[in-house]
Amino acid sequence: MSLFIITYHYVRPLKNSKYPNLKALELNKFKKQINILKKNTTILKMENLNQVNLNKNKKFSLLTFDDGYVDHYKYVYPILKKHKISGSFFIPIKNFISKDVLLVNKIHFILEKFYQKEQKLEELINQYLTKKKINLHIVKKKWIQSRAKRRKRNFDNQKVFFIKDLLQNILSDKIRNNLVNYLFAKYISKNSKDFHRKLYMNEKQIKILKKNGMHIGSHGYEHQWYEFMNFKNQRKDIKKSFKILKEKNISSNLKTFCYAYGSHNKNSIKILKNEKIDYAFTTLKGMEKNINFRNKLKLKRFDTNDVKNLNFN
Ligand SMILES: [Zn+2]
Repeated sequence: MSLFIITYHYVRPLKNSKYPNLKALELNKFKKQINILKKNTTILKMENLNQVNLNKNKKFSLLTFDDGYVDHYKYVYPILKKHKISGSFFIPIKNFISKDVLLVNKIHFILEKFYQKEQKLEELINQYLTKKKINLHIVKKKWIQSRAKRRKRNFDNQKVFFIKDLLQNILSDKIRNNLVNYLFAKYISKNSKDFHRKLYMNEKQIKILKKNGMHIGSHGYEHQWYEFMNFKNQRKDIKKSFKILKEKNISSNLKTFCYAYGSHNKNSIKILKNEKIDYAFTTLKGMEKNINFRNKLKLKRFDTNDVKNLNFN
C-alpha cells in the first residue's frame, strides 16, 4: 500500500485579502488538491489508519491541518463535508488558555508585512538589538557558520530563514519575546486579543468539527522546538496538552500528536510511547509503505506544496 499524508497550515482566499503575502494555500488550490487526492487515493479517516496495512495494493491519503487556524473551520471544513471526507486537526493547546497570539504566528504576520522588504525588517531588528547591546552582525556570522546548514527542508529563502531562526530560537527567550511583541504591536496589531479571536478556531468551532467526524489531536501545549528541550520539559508540554484536551472533552479514543515544526528527538518518541499515544506526525518528507511500531510515532508527511509533484503510480 502507499499512504500519502498531507500537511496543511493556512488555507484561505488570499487574493484581495488583508494579508495577500501570507504563506498560505489559496483556497481554490486546496479545492483542486482535494479533487486530485480523491481521484488517485482513498482519503482516510484517522480512525481507519490501522487498516491500511491490510490493503496491499491500495493508495491512501490522510489530510492533516496544523495550528488550529479559523481557516480550517471557515474554509476547509465545508469542503471536507461536501466531499464526505474527514480531516485531522492538530491544535496548539495553549490557545484555549491564553488569549495571546502564539509567537510563531506573530512572526508569520510580521514577515507578511515585510514581504520582499526583509532587509528593512533586519535593520529594525538590528536597531532594537543594538539598544540591548547585542551585535546582530556577529550573531548572523555565527549563524551562517553553524546553523544555516540546518535548512534541510524549508520553503523560505535564506533571509527569511535567518529572521525566523533568530526570533524562534537563537536569541534568548526574553529578548525574542519582547522583540516580536514590539514588532507585532507596532506593525500588525495593538490588540492581540482581538487578533487571537480572528486567527484561531474557538472551543465551540472545534467541537463542531469533532461532532461531524473530524479528528482532533494535540500539537503540543506551547508549540515549541522539542529538539532543543530536555526530557522533563518536553514531557511537561506533552502531558499538559493531553490533559487539557481531555478536560475540554475534545480528546478521542485515538490519541494523536503532531510535533510543532516537526521538531522531535529520541526523548519525544520515548515520552509519547510512555503516554500510549497512537500516532505522531513529523515534517519529514515521504510516503509510508506500512505502519508499524517503528514508524507510528514519526510518520512522514508531504507538504501541500508537494502535492502537485506526487506520483500516484
Ligand atoms: Zn505548527
